[in-house]
Amino acid sequence: MPNGYWDRILHVDLSARTTRIESLGEAFWRRHLGGRAIIAHYLLSEVPLGADPLGPENVLVFAAGVLTGTPFPGAGRHSVGAKSPMTGLFGESEAGGFWGAELRHAGWDAIVFHGRADTPVYLLIKDDQVEIRDASSIWGLETADVEDALRKEHGERLLRVAQAGVAGEHLVRYALVVNDLNEVAGRAGMGAVMGSKNLKAIAVRGTQKVPVADPKPLQATAKWVIETMEDVHYNFHHFGTGAGIIGKHLEGHMIVRNFQDGQWDPEKIHAIDAKTIADTDGFKMDGCYACSVRCKKRVKDEALSVLPKFGGPEYETIGSVGTNLTIGDLPMVMLLNQRLNQVGIDTVSFGGTVAWAMECFDRGLLTTADSGGVELRWGDGATVLKLVDQVARREAPLGELLADGALAAARKLGRDSEQYVVHVKGLEVAMHDPRGMQRMLENYPMNPTGGDHTGGAHAKTSLRNSIGLCIFLGYDDDRTLELVRAATGWDLDQQDLRTVVSRGLSMARLFNLREGMSTEDDRLPQRLHEPMLKGPLSDKTISREDVRSIVQDYYRQQGWHPESGAPLLGTLQALNIANYATYAQHAIDSSPAVATLPPVVTLTATVPQEQHSE
Ligand code: SF4
Repeated sequence: MPNGYWDRILHVDLSARTTRIESLGEAFWRRHLGGRAIIAHYLLSEVPLGADPLGPENVLVFAAGVLTGTPFPGAGRHSVGAKSPMTGLFGESEAGGFWGAELRHAGWDAIVFHGRADTPVYLLIKDDQVEIRDASSIWGLETADVEDALRKEHGERLLRVAQAGVAGEHLVRYALVVNDLNEVAGRAGMGAVMGSKNLKAIAVRGTQKVPVADPKPLQATAKWVIETMEDVHYNFHHFGTGAGIIGKHLEGHMIVRNFQDGQWDPEKIHAIDAKTIADTDGFKMDGCYACSVRCKKRVKDEALSVLPKFGGPEYETIGSVGTNLTIGDLPMVMLLNQRLNQVGIDTVSFGGTVAWAMECFDRGLLTTADSGGVELRWGDGATVLKLVDQVARREAPLGELLADGALAAARKLGRDSEQYVVHVKGLEVAMHDPRGMQRMLENYPMNPTGGDHTGGAHAKTSLRNSIGLCIFLGYDDDRTLELVRAATGWDLDQQDLRTVVSRGLSMARLFNLREGMSTEDDRLPQRLHEPMLKGPLSDKTISREDVRSIVQDYYRQQGWHPESGAPLLGTLQALNIANYATYAQHAIDSSPAVATLPPVVTLTATVPQEQHSE
């Protein structure tokens, strides 16, 4: 058993209701480390070409990283992956909280779900004990009721529950997987895949310590985070994400009215920013497993029954259902955040889809004849709140129209409405505008998951997600390397970590090309080539040529064909993943082998805190 791992992957065949343990050995873990590459391994090797993302042939992977569950700040992350029902491509999303650490404390590195149960089930894991159990009594319940019921039934106050909400049961394509009630693997529809498998929840309790080669660097890092908190993590520690949205507004790249404007009413922005939230009654900060940064908001509003256990709005939510829909009413934003967590819907895709619908209503493309009489007006929080439940249960006409995401809705509606969908590869773009953020211009077109800002094409986020380390922690390259070396005892260097990142990206690329994606999909949507209507960046546009040039540079950096973006066989060989060629033959370019891989981008260049906003 290598240090840093249990070398135990749990496979659950939901159709046959059987489980088995797979041990892949040290060489596998050295090559893949965790997260993305583990997901890609199973998508390439287990999911048939063209499989329906919501069919039994898809797999659903919960993958920890090598650091997940080890005792220092930021080590509470895990990834969830499947073929995405939003994009039909590589789907990957990450979550914090306690669930991933608990899985590792139970003695598991990953879970792979196969098939589909014929009736609702949940998985119970207590260390070595694994059971597929009947979920008929919790099917249809909202998240807090599910967690309460499972904890009560099993007499475990610390049972950690990851679950598909009601939205996942109804196959809302952007349903998420929520754990610990307020932590989510939000993007790419992983909750819909869970629901499609009739899998309601995974309840985990673990009592073991993750084996590490040398705990001292982990302890020293925990101490360093506490000692440098006010210098390194000040904003996150005191306000969480979203403390700098006024700054985004001033710079002119706040997300407003479906990415039409870069600025909004400053008083309304101030009314919903993290610093204002921190002044509300009952506000407190909380943290993920072992994390002294404690950047997670917990908010309370007794009149609206907003409860701290559902957390509080993160930056992405403030943007998605606040500024983007021009809802400047803090209690309403807090309530929307809670309802979306209670039913298990991704706030980013929901907000993006509703913003598209509001713009279409504004333009007369979507009318009350389509919406069942509902008027979709900017800033109308009460209507948006009703929409949450209509979408979660696919209630016709609007809930049904919007439950598959903005691109699918536009294709149903027609009337040239697709030009107003702000998406990459079918996934609504997160709340970071590439017209004002160069880093996102380099991320979105190449991100294997589409319009997501955290999974990312970037080396830093990719590495953090591969090793189970939160992207908010201000560790430099050397410290990150030291942590992985301490966990594993392996004599790794920076190039080894860069190679792991390249491996994961090339594997995800293989999967996407295999599933029919082409270089035409590595692009930005029409809206992001248009100038903003308001703000200091309104004279700035991004040309398609600029994007193409960035994309081709990226292909070269990754050792992919500069025109088609197909991984070169020599690159796969250099990365020691040529074995995956078997599963994606036509996605590989057999041009002459590259002797050595070109250098990839710097792993952890310092990035201002707000750019990390969730
Ligand atoms: S910084 Fe925040 S999101 Fe990251 S692990 Fe710590 S509490 Fe969780």
